[in-house]
Amino acid sequence: MTLVVPLDPAVNPAYLKLDLYCRGMRLHESCDAPGDGGRPDVRNDGGRPDLRNDGGRPILRTRAGLGSGLELILPGELWTNVPVTERFAQTSPYELRREKSSYRIWRDGKPCADVRLAPRPAWYDRSTTSGKAMRLIGTLQGTYLGIYPGKVCDFWMTGAARDTKENCRFCSVGLNLGADDAPGKTLDDVLEVVHAAWRESGITYVDFNMGHHDDWSYLDMLEPYLRRVNEETGLLLGVQVPPHPDLSRFDRLKKLGVNRVSFCFEIFDRRLFAETCPGKARIYGLDHYLQAIEHCASLGAPGRLALEPWVTNGEIIAGLEPPESSIEAIEWLTERGAIPTVCVFRPLSGTDMKETPPPDTDALVPVFASLWTRCMERGLPIGLAPNIHVSLVLLPEECRSLVQDEGTLRALRGQERRNAVKRQAFAALLKGRRLLMGPRPVGVSA
Ligand code: SF4
Repeated sequence: MTLVVPLDPAVNPAYLKLDLYCRGMRLHESCDAPGDGGRPDVRNDGGRPDLRNDGGRPILRTRAGLGSGLELILPGELWTNVPVTERFAQTSPYELRREKSSYRIWRDGKPCADVRLAPRPAWYDRSTTSGKAMRLIGTLQGTYLGIYPGKVCDFWMTGAARDTKENCRFCSVGLNLGADDAPGKTLDDVLEVVHAAWRESGITYVDFNMGHHDDWSYLDMLEPYLRRVNEETGLLLGVQVPPHPDLSRFDRLKKLGVNRVSFCFEIFDRRLFAETCPGKARIYGLDHYLQAIEHCASLGAPGRLALEPWVTNGEIIAGLEPPESSIEAIEWLTERGAIPTVCVFRPLSGTDMKETPPPDTDALVPVFASLWTRCMERGLPIGLAPNIHVSLVLLPEECRSLVQDEGTLRALRGQERRNAVKRQAFAALLKGRRLLMGPRPVGVSA
């Protein structure tokens, strides 16, 4: 029996997830119809419904703008965030239709896949003790909690440090301020949301994300949050930050209990990196991103299963450079023991690149196939943490069915079995920790 899964969106959910990132989806008028208890809420860029009356999540632009779409669960429990508000989505072959109270994606007028709306947690509609809307403090991206606690990235600001903005050209973070993110998130606000998401949404992982600060203060600002989340919860903890000039700061994060560091260099091609990310290129340079990744990857203990795992990610955006260059980046990262995070370029409304076409799906298939293959060949710890479904990217472990080479799939079956054993052991370790610590009950403050 062949192990290869055809690249047909009706039978290959990974291909469907990738194709939806690249082509977006239209919302059929049945999605506008009165739902279970009234007309769906309309509050987003394109004025489209967020389907919340069926328990779905609002459409937000947070997290460097990649999460601008509708959060859905595809067949095979693949969580995704589908572009629906951008112009390219309006000519997509995909259409979401509501049939009674369930949802189905149609492609070119034919049924393609039954899907579910990602559940809207009850805490999204509550406020913290200080009166801030919880969903503006942190958002679920798939099943993990993402928090952007700082001020807006300084690359968006003009002043003494720069005459003109130096923001990454695909980024929408500076467009979000005051809309999809709450200013002035205090430590207590954040901890209250972490406990609510842990208790009610069963999260296992919290991710903190910061942009550039000209005074290098981003790690100083993050550390108190990290310390408290680590002390009060047994949750896995990650940070996505620029590569601070003092790389020993990342050793310190590891000692604080951080399990994952992620560096977004986005583009491996030097010329395109400088053109697309002018602030990152001037202040840090691609080489410093790569040095930070090498340094952090060297802090881990390869192959060992630990209760305090340590993972280094290098994040790239496929579609901003030729696929061969993305594959080169994947090879560079995996050779050093770092796990690539590969996003798909989305030309977001309002950004400098809003008119740039999204990438072609089939051109990206080899990129994502190499993501799975290289991680597996190197024995990197992919897919081990329980209940982590990520909507903004195809996870390495989700890309197995994009590999179209039978020999490769057969050669890596042993590694798949070893990963399955590690996954079970790791889930048992985390369950034990949750039993020991447990989330704070409703209404109990620190
Ligand atoms: S570093 Fe670039 S991608 Fe990150 S927030 Fe700043 S402008 Fe956006």
